[in-house]
Amino acid sequence: MDIHEIMEIDKKHFMPVYSGRYPLLVDYGKGIKLYDKDGREYYDFLAGIGVNALGYGHPVYIKALKEQVEKVIHCSNFYYTEVQAELEKKLAENSSCDKSFFANSGAEANEGAIKLARKYFKAKGKDRYEIITADRSFHGRTMITVTATGQEKYKKPFSPLPPGFKTVPFNDLAAMEEAITDKTAAIMLEPVQGEGGVYPASQEYLEGIRKLCDEHGILLIFDEVQTGIGRSGSLFAYQEYGVEPDILTLAKGLGGGVPIGAFLARAEVADAFEPGDHGTTFGGNPLACRAAVTVLDIILEDGFLAGVKEKGEYFKRELQKLVEKNEDVIEVRGLGLMLALEFSDKISASEITMELFKKGFLVNAVQEHTLRFLPPLIVEKEDIDKLINAIEELF
Ligand code: PLP
Repeated sequence: MDIHEIMEIDKKHFMPVYSGRYPLLVDYGKGIKLYDKDGREYYDFLAGIGVNALGYGHPVYIKALKEQVEKVIHCSNFYYTEVQAELEKKLAENSSCDKSFFANSGAEANEGAIKLARKYFKAKGKDRYEIITADRSFHGRTMITVTATGQEKYKKPFSPLPPGFKTVPFNDLAAMEEAITDKTAAIMLEPVQGEGGVYPASQEYLEGIRKLCDEHGILLIFDEVQTGIGRSGSLFAYQEYGVEPDILTLAKGLGGGVPIGAFLARAEVADAFEPGDHGTTFGGNPLACRAAVTVLDIILEDGFLAGVKEKGEYFKRELQKLVEKNEDVIEVRGLGLMLALEFSDKISASEITMELFKKGFLVNAVQEHTLRFLPPLIVEKEDIDKLINAIEELF
């Protein structure tokens, strides 16, 4: 089948939720590049929306997955597997949380985190259920996580929405303080807002939020579905800020391409769950856990995270030079290898994305005038230089 036939089938038989897919028929990937059926190569600075942390075809990762596929892909959570225990232990040893639960996606991880926050107070006999999130946030597409999301466009078509959610301006501590009531169970935030346009929280904000949570006895949930697993230059972005959550959610990079989500919590919080409170068929299956354990092993090797930090700083400096040279390129934002370039309102990010696509670079127009970059963490400075040159040529 050629791409035109595939597009026809898709139009007829796939639900019309992805407007304007790019005319790229992916065949295979290698390193940070994707190749189409005609062998054309694309530098992938989106990495499956921050998923392919190790790029494509990483030999250690592929070997581990192949071995796992031959042993067992799936068995239910009625039974134990060594690899799931390995993952639980590794996450506990490398985070401020003690216990985890494995799901299949970011939305599911957040959904579970919200259930846990509500159950925590229910178990204490307290009538606290409200979750406060931030404007411009993104937490997923299920009914609960779309309600938690601070962007009207994602919620409007699905009203009435479930009660118990509130959003307030991001990076505004006074607004958060004002929103807290005796019904508040948790504050849920992305340390760097991703889908909203790559806006990092300020240091004072996250410190202030932690303090507010402690003062009011509220749980702090960090949604690190996008920022987690090395993207920020630390394993988790909260470590960049030195502000610890009570509940932490992960997905995207955790499986390096195999779907897995997770929510983690301090033992005192996690133990509010009782048998039967939560569960899943697929979550935490041996293949997904093997993928996650392998990703973590590689990312936690000496020098890997320092490399992410260094490459992120280099990338940011090079993008900053574009700001200085072009009046329509107005700002660089982000942390580690999660960066955005903001254009003036004369420039459409989608048009730039299409022009870069034609030149063999995959990036993402995350908002109308904002380009987002989420390359595999194994990206090299030479790859970054190539992308910067390509952007420069467009101006
Ligand atoms: N939370 C954040 C911060 C995200 O960026 C995303 C996805 O982009 C999600 C949650 C939802 O994840 P998923 O698409 O895996 O359900």
